[in-house]
Formats: sequence, structure tokens, C-alpha cells
Amino acid sequence: MKDCIFCKIVAGEIPSDIVYDDTHVLAFRDIAPLTPKHILVIPKIHCRSAKDSKCTPEVFSQICQAVQKITSQENIEEFRLVTNIGEQGGQTVFHLHFHILAGRQMRSMG
Ligand code: AMP
Ligand code: ZN
Repeated sequence: MKDCIFCKIVAGEIPSDIVYDDTHVLAFRDIAPLTPKHILVIPKIHCRSAKDSKCTPEVFSQICQAVQKITSQENIEEFRLVTNIGEQGGQTVFHLHFHILAGRQMRSMG
């Protein structure tokens, strides 16, 4: 999608530190990490968020499978997996992404 920063990363138009790439999913390191390891996992197709009808169970499944591979590859045993939905949910980039937050003790949510 035009003007979507993550679509531009998928297209290779913006550089990123890619850690995983398959047919449907791309993962790269967050530019402003909140934890020692902070990886974003995105579908290659443009979905606005997990509430988008284009975010089907198949897309979720592709992402979950990728998360398992990425965390194994990165030697991440325990982590937080988060997706923000909409401005009130804290979303700032409107292309579906899951944050893998790892490498330190996480505080409880709320
Ligand atoms: P959210 O606030 O859930 O929408 O998360 C968006 C995330 O994208 C933030 O953690 C940003 O630091 C990250 N981000 C924005 N632009 C880039 C980029 N060009 N490369 C890597 N991460 C980015
Ligand atoms: Zn996009």
C-alpha cells in the first residue's frame, strides 16, 4: 500500500534489519527497541490491524508459525507478544505487526 512504511520495508524501499523472511511473513528489528531484543513480525500483505477483515486465521497462523521459528533462531525462550489495535490501543504504524519483546523481565500489564 502506498505511503505505508512497513509495505515499503517489504518492498525493500526502506532499509531494515531483517531477521526472518518467508513467502508470507517478514520480521525485522524495531528501530526504537523497548527491550534488549525487540522484533516486529508482519504479514507481507497490507492489513491495517488484527481487526482488519484481511487479517484472516490463515494470516494469524502464518505469523504464529514465524514467531516460533524466529524465537528459536534468536534463542528467545520467554517473551511478550503484543499487537496494538488502533490509536487508543497504542498503534502508531497502521500495518499489522506483532512485537516480540524479550531479554528482560516484563512488568505486569495494565
Ligand atoms: P506500534 O506503536 O504498535 O504501532 O508499533 C510501531 C513500531 O514500529 C514502533 O515500536 C516503532 O519503533 C517501529 N518502527 C517504526 N518505523 C520503523 C522502521 N522504519 N523500522 C523498524 N521499526 C520501526
Ligand atoms: Zn502496509
